[in-house]
Amino acid sequence: MTVSALGMAAAAFIAVFAYNKKALSLCAAVTAFIIMTLILICAGAGAELLLIISYIAVMTVDKLFEKGIKAVTSGINKKTGPRDAVQVLSNGLFGTIAVLMYAAFKYPLFLCAYAIGIGEALADSIASDIGVLSKKPPVDICTFKRIEKGMSGGVSPLGISACAVFCCIYAVTAKLLTGISIYGAAFTGALSFAGCIIDSILGSRIQCRYICRICRKPTEKNIHCGEPSEFAGGIRYIDNCRVNLISNGITVILGIAILLWKGYIL
Ligand SMILES: [Zn+2]
Repeated sequence: MTVSALGMAAAAFIAVFAYNKKALSLCAAVTAFIIMTLILICAGAGAELLLIISYIAVMTVDKLFEKGIKAVTSGINKKTGPRDAVQVLSNGLFGTIAVLMYAAFKYPLFLCAYAIGIGEALADSIASDIGVLSKKPPVDICTFKRIEKGMSGGVSPLGISACAVFCCIYAVTAKLLTGISIYGAAFTGALSFAGCIIDSILGSRIQCRYICRICRKPTEKNIHCGEPSEFAGGIRYIDNCRVNLISNGITVILGIAILLWKGYIL
C-alpha cells in the first residue's frame, strides 16, 4: 500500500471510530474525514498524523474524565452529545486553510500556521475538559471574580497547567511529524497556549450568557429547566462554537503575521 492509501485508510478508520463511539455525529465524521484527507494531500502523511493524534488525544481525555466533565457542565454548556460538523469545522477550518496555502505556495510558515491552528483548538479543548475538574471554582480571566464551573472565560490553575503541558508535548510532536524547524515548533507551542488565553478572554467578554428563569443558575443554554433563559450579557448569537472559530482564526492569522514579520518564510 502506498503512503497516501494508508493515510486515507487511517482517516476513514478514525472517522468511523469516532462516529461509533458517539464522539462525532455522522456529518461531523464526514467533515473530519474530508479535513484529514485534504491535509494528507496538501501536506503529507506526517501532518495528517498530527491531526489524527490530536483527535485521539481529545477523545481519550473526553472518555477518561467523562463523568466528572458531565457532572459539571451538563446544565451549563450548550452542546452535549456527539460533536457536530459545525464544531469540527470551527476547530479545523483555519488549520485547513493554512494547509491549502502551504500546498499553493510551499512556504513552511503555512505548515507552521497549520500546526498552530490545530494546536490551539486541541489545547483549548483539553484545557477546558481538565480545567472543569478543578476542586475550586474558576475565576473569570478578565474580572478575576469567581464564576460557576464550566462557564466560558473561567480559568483555573489546573486548566492553565494542563494547557501549558499539552502545548509543550504538542510542539515536540509537531516538530517530529511535520518537519518544521525547532523555532517553528517552539513558536507553535507558544501560540497554541496564547490562543487558549485569547479564547478565554473572548469567552468572558463577547460570548452570550444567560440566567435560568426557574433555577436562577448562570448558563450558556438558551433553554434551561424547560423554559427560555434570560439574556445576561455578551453578544447575542456569539455562542461557544463561534468563540472557538474566532479565537482560532485570530491565533492562526497572528501566527502568520508574526512569522512574516520575523522573516520566517523559507
Ligand atoms: Zn434552570
